[in-house]
Amino acid sequence: MTHPILITGGAGYIGSHTALQFLRAGHTVTVLDNLSNSSPESLARVQTLSGKPIRFVEGDITDPECLAQLFSNNHFAAVIHFAGLKAVGESVAQPLRYYQNNVAGTLCLLQAMDAANCRTLVFSSSATVYGDPQQLPISESAPRSATNPYGRSKLMIEELLEDLYASDPRWRILCLRYFNPVGADPSGRMGEDPQGIPNNLMPFISQVACGARAQLSVFGGDYATPDGTGVRDYIHVVDLAAGHLAALDYLLAQPQGEWLAVNLGTGHGISVLDMVKTFEAASGQSVPYSVVARRPGDIAACYADASKAHQLLHWQATLGLQEMCADTWRWQAQNPQGYRLSASAGDKKS
Ligand code: NAD
Ligand code: UDP
Repeated sequence: MTHPILITGGAGYIGSHTALQFLRAGHTVTVLDNLSNSSPESLARVQTLSGKPIRFVEGDITDPECLAQLFSNNHFAAVIHFAGLKAVGESVAQPLRYYQNNVAGTLCLLQAMDAANCRTLVFSSSATVYGDPQQLPISESAPRSATNPYGRSKLMIEELLEDLYASDPRWRILCLRYFNPVGADPSGRMGEDPQGIPNNLMPFISQVACGARAQLSVFGGDYATPDGTGVRDYIHVVDLAAGHLAALDYLLAQPQGEWLAVNLGTGHGISVLDMVKTFEAASGQSVPYSVVARRPGDIAACYADASKAHQLLHWQATLGLQEMCADTWRWQAQNPQGYRLSASAGDKKS
């Protein structure tokens, strides 16, 4: 069955890869995005790659009038909710902006959905809600905590979604807790396009590999991990996007409402040095690095127990570290300026 779907934040990194898969699966897709961290060029490429039209509404999830208009003019079977700010350091410096955008924005969205009788939601949560995990791999029943305003905004949203379901069991809500999304579409036409200096490991490595940055700083070489560097569960964005299709299928098949949280990860831990070595092999470029002090707030290791997604959603990651690195490199090499300098790109990223 195909459905009309609203994707908030659909012009962004994960949202655009997900929009592509939803279109390919035959769904009708409307994207709502304020372009605060993205370019309309990503959606132009989604249309080219899928050969299908996408409806784009430039608007903000914190704007009740925009939402009311959107929901009164359209029927949506479900909302896939990516829109949000995601930089941890920025959230520490600007907590009000993060709570306003992420938490208040989600509240506005939920109010508009409720008024329109659209009560099926897939929410972009994060492994950050596990804080510093006491046990590995991390299962969904692990205790939740937050160490910064970004993480707290995700935790607060998960909790408010639980309260909402408890108050009205017609809601069907799935919180997907992503581990570390990396990679790019294998076409090389879509990928992650961070503004300024990347905070995350993979985009930083790919900028070093292409010569845009001199070297990688490896944050900490003395963790209790096999090689002393931090360990994470990196998941290919194409697998992650497929997880959203599986989540939608699951929710729409439920006879009753539900709130649940599911990890999307591979279940495998990869160290910073594993990543550097695999990227060098996949790209044929060298990635010079030096080991420096730990980054404040970092944890040693984090990887998923991915069994719930397999059992419930019939989904599992299929792509490995080699594909993650090769696809990232193809995107980086073919688009050294990301979506900028492209004919149909806006000037948001200048
Ligand atoms: P992204 O910044 O590329 O995409 C987010 C999109 O939301 C952007 O296009 C941005 O313009 C839009 N947006 C932000 N605030 C908005 C608002 N108020 N109204 C309308 N649009 C708005 O980020 P991403 O990496 O694609 O992440 C998508 C979601 O997944 C986010 O909620 C993020 O917190 C979550 N997540 C990301 C990661 C990661 O490492 N990338 C990990 C875990 C969870
Ligand atoms: N990391 C690093 N250098 C960088 C960026 C990240 O050594 O320039 C390390 C970081 O300490 C962590 C891993 O890479 O061990 C993943 O970091 P990222 O910020 O991508 O994800 P997160 O820490 O949020 O899981």
